Amino acid sequence: MSAKKVTKIAVLTSGGDAPGMNAAIRAVVRTGIYNGLEVFGVTRGYNGMIEDDIFEMDSKSVANIIQRGGTILKTARSKDFFTPEGRQIAYDNLKKRDINGIVVIGGDGSFKGAQKFSNEFDIPCIGLPGTIDKDIAGSDFTIGFDTAVNTAVEAIDKIRDTADAHDRLFVVEVMGRDAGYIALHSGIATGAENILIPESKTDMEALVRALTEKEKRKKLVNLIVVAEGDEFGGGNHVGDFLKQRLPNADIRVCILGHIQRGGAPSCLDRLIASRMGYHAVECLINGTHNVMVGIEDNKMKYTPLDNAVKAKQKISEEWLKIVKILAS
Ligand code: ATP
Repeated sequence: MSAKKVTKIAVLTSGGDAPGMNAAIRAVVRTGIYNGLEVFGVTRGYNGMIEDDIFEMDSKSVANIIQRGGTILKTARSKDFFTPEGRQIAYDNLKKRDINGIVVIGGDGSFKGAQKFSNEFDIPCIGLPGTIDKDIAGSDFTIGFDTAVNTAVEAIDKIRDTADAHDRLFVVEVMGRDAGYIALHSGIATGAENILIPESKTDMEALVRALTEKEKRKKLVNLIVVAEGDEFGGGNHVGDFLKQRLPNADIRVCILGHIQRGGAPSCLDRLIASRMGYHAVECLINGTHNVMVGIEDNKMKYTPLDNAVKAKQKISEEWLKIVKILAS
């Protein structure tokens, strides 16, 4: 059976916000209009679908947003979308406008919702990976990751200046509840002594030994980058542990927090968001339905939503080895 022709589409952002989401919305809206589709915006993720907060968009409604962080559609987490009743209401609200295609920009949770919805109803969904965490398989980069890493790098460089002035050891916590990519990338780029991530167990005794040895040879400026979801318990726990074990060291903790989510998207994020948004609409038109649009080796890659929600990217062992060698 051939797929029904897509004529009216809706776009929404869901889950945590990420810089570059606006660039993706712009690309979806303008590619849709270019192809003669009617395009609707849904506010606050799946909540807007359930609460019927859906409005028609035109080319002008996405003017002057490519450079803005956040999302003009707002984003949210929706408890009601977990329930079949909630999804039925969402479907009815789309159906009464004859919307027959959806683009969801969000993380793997949002894709789980989209996968369920497209299995239950006759409206195909396309997922665009929009998350600063980069914890989705099927794309080398996710929208927002590059900006978040660059924000972290800029902040850590500044911390290094003050660490150097006072011969201090800084423990810097970056975002990443389940994934260590922001920590790994920003840690390597700022010359961190050690990087603690949820994907690998850190030998804390070995870390203490290494820092003690560095103290002896007067290497006093040390940066430890910790992902918030590291199994040891995040920046404050690591800081408390090191203060106990290294009483002579001047140790400070800095939690970078939400600054990593905000700000103007980097060039890379604007570029991948624009390419992904364009291809999301192409997929809806040409019948490549219920996939996540990613980019691997600079080529578009279409991963069925079912697989996109199951697989995670793997942390490279080689990168972890590089951290150790370069920190000596
Ligand atoms: P981030 O990576 O920033 O956390 P995310 O998309 O993974 O983004 P979640 O909070 O996990 O964020 O999911 C966003 C929304 O997707 C949920 O609030 C819910 O509405 C919907 N959702 C997630 N999982 C499911 C599911 N299993 N069934 C139905 N809906 C779901």
